[in-house]
Amino acid sequence: MSSVTIPPPACMLRPLEVPFRYLFGPGPSNVPPRILAAGGRPIIGHMHSEMFGIMNDIKKGIQYAFQTSNNMTLAMSGSGHTAMECAVFNIVEPGESVLVAINGIWGERVAEIAERMGMKLIIKIMPAHCFLEIHPYLLRALAKHKPVLFFLTHGESSAGLVHPMDGVGDICHKYNCLLLVDSVASLGAAPLLMDQQNIDILYTGSQKALNAPPGTAPVSFSERACHKMFNRKTKPVSYLLDMTHLSNYWGNDGKPERIYHHTGPVSGFFALRESLAILAEMGLENSWSHHTEIAEYLWKGLEDLGLKLFIKDKDLRLPSVTTIAIPEGYDWKELLAYIMKHHRIEFTGGLGPSVGMVLRIGLMGYNCNKANAAMALAALEDALKQCRKSKA
Ligand code: PMP
Repeated sequence: MSSVTIPPPACMLRPLEVPFRYLFGPGPSNVPPRILAAGGRPIIGHMHSEMFGIMNDIKKGIQYAFQTSNNMTLAMSGSGHTAMECAVFNIVEPGESVLVAINGIWGERVAEIAERMGMKLIIKIMPAHCFLEIHPYLLRALAKHKPVLFFLTHGESSAGLVHPMDGVGDICHKYNCLLLVDSVASLGAAPLLMDQQNIDILYTGSQKALNAPPGTAPVSFSERACHKMFNRKTKPVSYLLDMTHLSNYWGNDGKPERIYHHTGPVSGFFALRESLAILAEMGLENSWSHHTEIAEYLWKGLEDLGLKLFIKDKDLRLPSVTTIAIPEGYDWKELLAYIMKHHRIEFTGGLGPSVGMVLRIGLMGYNCNKANAAMALAALEDALKQCRKSKA
């Protein structure tokens, strides 16, 4: 047998170094010690009865956070994108149509996922970053194209926009179309009621207002959605994301035994359980009003600095992620680099269609308090003094 020819890399012989950062961007958010500690508990087997008990608790926590009594509620092993793909892969069969509202980058992503799967028809409605009273467009598109799924982002983190959800599900159901909603950036920060708003599939991520580490993604399917996905003629393209297997892994299929499908992120599930417990202790309504109160304090402070908020209408602003129009006479990358270097604070630029148009500040969950908002404002004020390129 030949011997090892590649030596251990020098970096692997040095200890891990992780700097401290104030994560005031659109996510991930800082993880509070209580959640970090939960994630640091000793591992147990992913198929142990105690683990199933913890997964059952997570299911209850998600049902509360989503305001749903759907049995088909679980957490994906993976980030928000995993839940996004899981929903599209399981609901739509080849040749069927999908309707996507693009009000920023997340609609673009879902359209691309659907395009890659060779779905028959994708109609993109809504200009980027704009709120549109979508009901009339939706009615026309549903009647004309008969899609099986309509996608809408609730909290558009690239635009800083929260899209009103009332009535959308009712319209979809009139045309036998399922409503898929992305709440990765808004869950826990802005009101959303899955059952009352007739949402068929809702997903979020662990790393935003829930303050868990990235890597798990709560998702829930209505009875209507279950009927569609469990009566399909073809198997979904992904084995890993096949809801037939995942529903058994989460004990949702009524079978007496759970059979090994994949090894879930045990530590990630511990952390997610703790984050859902914190939300349950605080109460959803308190969490929503707290995010709004802090966001309003931040918005006022930004306007006092002479900055312009990107979303003009206060009611359409996402409380968790604020978008600021890049002030004239500044290089946005320089502003961000200055704030990171001198204040250890992460803000970010735009994403997808909003690149070069906005700066984004996210104050979510544990990070959402007046002291952090004041710190963010002071850092921005300092950067505005130091980084001016030209007199506007
Ligand atoms: N949707 C929205 C609204 C998001 O803000 C994000 C993350 N920025 C995602 C989806 C994707 O989530 P993830 O990065 O966890 O895959």
